[in-house]
Amino acid sequence: MLLVFLGPPGAGKGTQATRLAAKYGVPQVSTGDMLREAVAAGTDVGLRAKSIMDAGQLVDDATLADLVRDRLGQPDATGGAILDGYPRNTAQAAALESLLADTPLEAVDRVLFLDVAEEILVDRLSKRRACPSCNANFHLVFKPPADGTNCDRCGTELVQREDDREAVVRDRLQVYAEITAPLVEHYERIGLLARIDGAGSIDDVWSRVDNVMSMAVSE
Ligand code: AMP
Repeated sequence: MLLVFLGPPGAGKGTQATRLAAKYGVPQVSTGDMLREAVAAGTDVGLRAKSIMDAGQLVDDATLADLVRDRLGQPDATGGAILDGYPRNTAQAAALESLLADTPLEAVDRVLFLDVAEEILVDRLSKRRACPSCNANFHLVFKPPADGTNCDRCGTELVQREDDREAVVRDRLQVYAEITAPLVEHYERIGLLARIDGAGSIDDVWSRVDNVMSMAVSE
């Protein structure tokens, strides 16, 4: 099962992908998390990506194709994966198609598009806090950490991502509207898109995602 989560920054792709990955026993592949790990580890990719990410722009397609190809080649991904944050432009969608053609997964099975209005996105992202160690996400109002400051999962002090500052959030939303949003039509045209209302609580959105997936699996 190869699923793609599509949606603007702050739509809840990571949160919903984590739940879906646990339910179906396939890994969640977040290219944003992989790049942040590369930055933290100071690898060549990380050194190249850091300033681009801090500015809310997209890292180059060749780097992303290498990361995704390597990740999907790992043993835990032989039965599939949930892609969160990839592809993000039409060239990446084409690269994904050709790299999948060389694997037993063959092709994308379904694309889940989380649709959320822009005002909600800005609010969610500017109040988001992230764990720099295990990548868990929190929200100061809707999903606060139990002790107010540290990660519930691993205890590390939470931080605001550099690219979650309001000025950068606006740039990321613009990049999304110009470069990533056309993928919605692409996947709709080829019959893979499921449009899901991403407004409301995490549990509300999860029940919609779960419904769509249960219908797809029973088809
Ligand atoms: P995310 O955590 O998905 O919001 O990604 C954070 C940042 O990582 C993005 O703003 C980009 O700079 C970079 N990034 C993540 N995925 C991709 C991708 N598929 N293509 C290019 N850049 C990406």
